[in-house]
Amino acid sequence: MGRAIGPKCKLCRSSGEKLFLKGSRCHSDKCAMERRPYSPGQHGRSRGRKLSNYGVQLKAKQKAKKIYCVLEKQFRKYFDKADRQRGVTGTNLLCLLERRMDMVVYRMGCALSRPHARQLVRHNFFTVNGKKVTIPSYQLKVGDVVEVNTKEARQAHVRANLELTSSFKVPEWLSFEEGQLKGSFVRFPERDEMDQSIDEQLIVELYSK
Ligand code: SF4
Repeated sequence: MGRAIGPKCKLCRSSGEKLFLKGSRCHSDKCAMERRPYSPGQHGRSRGRKLSNYGVQLKAKQKAKKIYCVLEKQFRKYFDKADRQRGVTGTNLLCLLERRMDMVVYRMGCALSRPHARQLVRHNFFTVNGKKVTIPSYQLKVGDVVEVNTKEARQAHVRANLELTSSFKVPEWLSFEEGQLKGSFVRFPERDEMDQSIDEQLIVELYSK
């Protein structure tokens, strides 16, 4: 599957809010949203128009895609799958996104940002239930065990990341043992435990037209 390439900070600036795509830089005064908190481009400062309903829904979807680093085709597939599942479609959609391997690695604090987590997964840093997994979109199931590759250089890299992310709190639906560099997917997340800044109802409305 493809991935969004190009400057990450532009994604935040066009969304009008911080999406935390660059690790520690996002928490420093070097963050582009601190220095230039307006849309990129020649008319960035003057863009202040009122959005239509469709515009609001589209913006909500674009934001979710940027946060989870997923392109349109794959995002639509997640939505279709969420729609076929029992329960609330919007919550199912977010749950499917949270079950991605790169998201789980990020939530465990092993990477500094979601794009960084994706890169580590691609570079064979992790195993699932003892088997190599290099697909960032790999869907984890309840009970799956995620472990850092036994190679020393990879373990050292992840330990360094864990030090930088020591203030992160591993969410309750996951567990992670820093000493063993091993964690597991304990249960599916509830809606109130997932990203509150995403309005998934707007995404459902947009795709249901
Ligand atoms: Fe977004 Fe991080 Fe860039 Fe700030 S530094 S604009 S939060 S990606």
